[in-house]
Amino acid sequence: MNSTRLTLLLNPPGQNIYIRDYYCSKLSRTGYTFPPIDLLHVGAVFNAHGWQTQAIDAIVQGLGVEEILADVKTRKPDVIFILVGAVSVDEDAEFLKRLRPLVPDALLIGSGDVLREHGRKWLESGLLDAVTLDFSSPSVVRFAEGETDNLEDLIYKVGDEIVEGPTSTGKTFAIGLPPHELFQPFPYRFPFAHRQPFASLLTDYGCPYRCSFCVMANLHYHTRPIEEVAKELAHLQALGIREFALWDQTFAVNRARGLEVLDQLPDGPDKFGWTCFTRPDCIDQDLALKMAAKGCHTVIMGVETAKAESLEAIQKDFSTHDMKLAFTLCRKAGLETVATVIVGLPGENVADIEATMDFVCHLDSDYLSVHTAVPRAGTNLRRQMVAEGLVSEELANMDQSGESAVISSDTLDPHTILALRKRFNRRFYLRPKFLVRTMWHNLKNPARLVEHVKQGLTLLSHNRG
Ligand code: SF4
Repeated sequence: MNSTRLTLLLNPPGQNIYIRDYYCSKLSRTGYTFPPIDLLHVGAVFNAHGWQTQAIDAIVQGLGVEEILADVKTRKPDVIFILVGAVSVDEDAEFLKRLRPLVPDALLIGSGDVLREHGRKWLESGLLDAVTLDFSSPSVVRFAEGETDNLEDLIYKVGDEIVEGPTSTGKTFAIGLPPHELFQPFPYRFPFAHRQPFASLLTDYGCPYRCSFCVMANLHYHTRPIEEVAKELAHLQALGIREFALWDQTFAVNRARGLEVLDQLPDGPDKFGWTCFTRPDCIDQDLALKMAAKGCHTVIMGVETAKAESLEAIQKDFSTHDMKLAFTLCRKAGLETVATVIVGLPGENVADIEATMDFVCHLDSDYLSVHTAVPRAGTNLRRQMVAEGLVSEELANMDQSGESAVISSDTLDPHTILALRKRFNRRFYLRPKFLVRTMWHNLKNPARLVEHVKQGLTLLSHNRG
């Protein structure tokens, strides 16, 4: 252990508000941002090995390339752990080209969606020294300390050779305490947070389900020890943080463990407010009531499409009946809901997408998030689109939000997909029922109401017909 060594956790600058986090990247449609979970977990891993950590989130701090390059040079880090995104791939590569000669002795280790598919190339071109395929793995710090054998979930350089470590198979992982205090001063904005400041939290990694479009289905699912989660919650309380976004991809995927996580959350005045993701078939009335009692206020669930054949093709393994039930019981438990949908799935035509719009408006979730189908690294959807000649194997620049890059499906061209995505948003958010309910729910929280109005106006300005 060497307490004088420094790792800089870096979300690099960008020309737009990019979200680069947890092997996803996209343009932030309404300007929302949150502490990147990759940086928090890697920070915990380095801290647990006695390293110092510092953080720069150039996106949320609004810092440009020149400022960051000058700042990094002054800090003289031994390791720079940097986020890279498919949405900003060219900018990120250019930034690394300029960074490298300024810190010739620092190790550059990257994490990001684009690196899961093209990591080896980034090492070959000298932009990075290593790429992590699991940001909760201790391999990054072992590599930084000079180890070269059996580094799981890491692609790394040993001399001129590039080594691909084995994939981990463990069922649990302990990382220590993520350094939330480093990110707390940054002005993150998250539409579902009821309070500021808020944190990002992760109690497991990956997802055991198999949805064909989702990168999480290709990550090795494992969980953190519950005692470590309890310590992290106490750490957040000590920092005065009472709000978090839980980035577990499917809360209560194991119901018993979900209940165990709930048991760690305090009651009374110290109660946290929180948002989580789950699946319609993972939630029941009893669980929803317990989540609400423990401070959960918002649940995000993937609907994707209302077409039964598409649900089967993308291997969602639940039905529209499950969705209706889940959204209803969340509402009854007092939880707000967010439905996420995908426009441009293979085989879907305009009428199919219109039918999904009808279904989602009828579901009447509190909020909606519309994505476009993206052939993300390592997914079955990517393999299918490459096989059908819709995209090249080399494709690296992608935006899951559909703001900056839309890709043809087998049935629809990019222009139609983009127009449908915009129409979907307008149909949902301009319903009188939505507008009245949002006003009503937020009357007692004027700051949140103002935030909603701001985000709503931004969303609508991006979705004009
Ligand atoms: S359930 Fe959600 S996180 Fe899990 S594989 Fe499916 S889409 Fe991905």
